[in-house]
Amino acid sequence: MQGAILALKSGMRILIANDDGIYSPGIQVAAEVASRFGEVRIVAPSVEQSSMGHAITHARPLHIKVARVADFEAYRVDGTPADCVALGIHTWGDVDAVVSGINLGLNLGNSMWHSGTLAAAKQAALLGCRGVALSAPSSEEVSGFASIRPWVEDVLGRLLRESTHRLLNVNFPRAPKGIAWTKQSVRQYDGHVFPAKDPMGRDHFWVHPIPLEAADEGSDRWAIEHDLVSITPLRLDLTDEAELARQLAVT
Ligand code: MN
Repeated sequence: MQGAILALKSGMRILIANDDGIYSPGIQVAAEVASRFGEVRIVAPSVEQSSMGHAITHARPLHIKVARVADFEAYRVDGTPADCVALGIHTWGDVDAVVSGINLGLNLGNSMWHSGTLAAAKQAALLGCRGVALSAPSSEEVSGFASIRPWVEDVLGRLLRESTHRLLNVNFPRAPKGIAWTKQSVRQYDGHVFPAKDPMGRDHFWVHPIPLEAADEGSDRWAIEHDLVSITPLRLDLTDEAELARQLAVT
């Protein structure tokens, strides 16, 4: 076992990114765990970029500056999570895998569309690297990730060893009891907007999507509800294959 870890460690370059920002406690845990399996470098946003999705900065230049995260080599970028991965891979070169997170907040179902954590892993996949997104309940900030840390080690070790996976979205429940491979839950959301008043009496709004239906069995939401670590394999191609085949058949 130890030999396998050492053999794996010798050759892997693992870039660590996130969307919570370089000073989020989750990124240090991700770096600590990943450093057991390879050489680690952190490149992350200077400030929080949660729910920025796969935005990239195209109308102004980006800057990369040295940062301090424990004893890791770390850099902060004045851009988005996807920008950080692009710069990280460009400046380091030969990156084998990108680990994004650990996000403070789950990224399940509908959240995958706006998650910056997942976007960093997607950017890795777009650039030919493997990408793994890690997300945990936001309460882990208080507990220091103690309850999920052994599971992060187990899951990341497995996933980094298997090179067949291109893009994975991993979510950890508060107290995991096991691991489940899952599909993305795509049940309808109500897109709810909550109106309220600010202290000056002006209208303001909170966008907070709420699932309309119970989680479907075998989905990421279902796994978390059953205290299972959810691992969802993803692809970059959004094409609706069935509809494409139908259209090609009638034209
Ligand atoms: Mn976040």
